[in-house]
Amino acid sequence: MSETPLLTVVVPCYNEEEVLEDTMEKLHNLLEELVNEKLVHPKSNLLFVDDGSCDKTWSMIAKESVHHPWIKGLKLARNVGHQKALIAGLEKVAEVADCAISIDADLQDDIKAIKEFLVKFHEGYDIVYGVRRRRTTDTFFKRSTALGFYRCMNKLGIELIYNHADFRLMSKRALTELRRYKEKNLFLRGIIPLIGLNTAEVFYDRKERLAGESKYPLKKMLSFAFDGITSFSVKPIRFITYIGFFLFLLSGFAFLYAFVQKLLGSADSGWTSIIVSLWFLGGLNLIGIGVVGEYIGKIFTEVKARPHYGVDIDLYTSSLTGEKSEGIEPAVLFNEEK
Ligand code: UDP
Ligand code: MG
Repeated sequence: MSETPLLTVVVPCYNEEEVLEDTMEKLHNLLEELVNEKLVHPKSNLLFVDDGSCDKTWSMIAKESVHHPWIKGLKLARNVGHQKALIAGLEKVAEVADCAISIDADLQDDIKAIKEFLVKFHEGYDIVYGVRRRRTTDTFFKRSTALGFYRCMNKLGIELIYNHADFRLMSKRALTELRRYKEKNLFLRGIIPLIGLNTAEVFYDRKERLAGESKYPLKKMLSFAFDGITSFSVKPIRFITYIGFFLFLLSGFAFLYAFVQKLLGSADSGWTSIIVSLWFLGGLNLIGIGVVGEYIGKIFTEVKARPHYGVDIDLYTSSLTGEKSEGIEPAVLFNEEK
């Protein structure tokens, strides 16, 4: 890595004409500051990914990119959503930049934290998460649904960084690793902790949106949460099996109860057989669905074809061939030296 890393700030934009000018100016000023402080390479830049906007977003990006070399643009063919737009940008920069920082176009996330991200990067961290200190700028509804979401994900065994959205720095190594995750439903917040490597957190306060409206209405939020759960966990399927076994067990008690009722003569004819078979078959059905589901769960994890591991430092290949190992570049051997 060169002394000063080439940084690209990736900004997904969907109908952001109201904030874009301001965002470009603020990010450019910051970039200048970072270059002056020798934290980043003078060729560092901003990549605005237009996610199929239908307003002036793209024409603004294209116009500015002609006048200013630090502004780059990528126009997606149609609206694919925040996550995919972000991935498109990150994939684009992976080969060129030494590190990338992703941030929303409305600059709700505090850009002052970017300097701290870079300090951490220079200390040898590959992934730096921007973590919100508080959620005071959110509505009560958004705050409580977000908390519920984190809790639910946690219960399902999915590791998420609490109060971290998509404001983060990733080194070239981390970006290269990310490209090994080929799944279509790439839920970044869940995948990135799977990459491993050296990670750090930087705390900041999130502001209100400068202008324009949130592009995440309730419907999109719910589908995002559902996507997160179903891309990571097969536990909901296992839950069906458990309910099945529970009902099956209950059918034993139902049998005893119904039998006693029959002996006491308080049951109408036919009632006993119906009530017993109801519980028994219900349980059996659910167990059957659960078992089929277990196999589907196996297919689900197989088709994702996630990498089994990532390599941080490889002293084997480099010692035998004298060359750098394939895949991720070997890190400086001892992180303290970075
Ligand atoms: N965004 C996008 N495609 C979409 C929706 C949103 O690229 O389909 C971008 C948007 O321009 C912004 C970021 O994703 O840069 C986050 O959106 P927003 O600020 O509206 O979400 P909120 O902060 O309200 O959760
Ligand atoms: Mg926002």
